Amino acid sequence: MSSERRGLLLVVSSPSGAGKTTLSRRLAGAHPEIELSISVTTRAPRPGEAEGREYHFVSQQAFAEAVAAETFLEWAEVHGNSYGTPRAPVEAALALGRDVLFDIDWQGAAAIRRSLPSETACVFILPPSMEALAARLHARAQDAAPVIARRLARAREEIGHWGEYDYVIVNDAFEHAYGQLEAIYLAERLKRGRNRWLEGLVRRLTDQD
Ligand code: 5GP
Repeated sequence: MSSERRGLLLVVSSPSGAGKTTLSRRLAGAHPEIELSISVTTRAPRPGEAEGREYHFVSQQAFAEAVAAETFLEWAEVHGNSYGTPRAPVEAALALGRDVLFDIDWQGAAAIRRSLPSETACVFILPPSMEALAARLHARAQDAAPVIARRLARAREEIGHWGEYDYVIVNDAFEHAYGQLEAIYLAERLKRGRNRWLEGLVRRLTDQD
């Protein structure tokens, strides 16, 4: 399997509230060959979040120890908390020719592209307007008002990095945006260099006996 197909690392970023988590989880749910990368974070769980499902929730000390042990493929400070992508599951998935989906910020996207450039495709999700983004953050209402204000300020900064991405989706209607994300994933999978097994097929197709 590993020599037949090279796995894809699909990175999805957006400002908080633009819908990337829902879009990513739907894509992973619809395509069993995708593994979701579960990050480690020092932020507290929100209501409804479960250990090991949204994140691995750890103390600052445990996070610092993991950084020192070089456990992370990348890690970054976001909104005053630390977030890291565990390296081992990504390496295991790639060895098996499986795909990994990352819901991480622009710093993580840049770092993953730097470490594995030919495996990585990066997608940025834009909200249709700042009003829509603010409304989604308020509707979610899982964070206190000052946290929401901080996230809106951060959103402008995050959006400033849109030019570093291969693909951009405007999430004005969920189904439409999801169709676009799935189209990107399917097209990336079909890239010639990702499918070594094609060489054998083409050899058989062109062999003259
Ligand atoms: P939240 O706290 O809202 O779940 O996430 C805050 C931000 O951190 C989001 O932009 C999310 O994509 C990003 N993030 C989550 N995990 C990681 C990670 O492992 N690395 C990086 N660089 N960013 C992450």
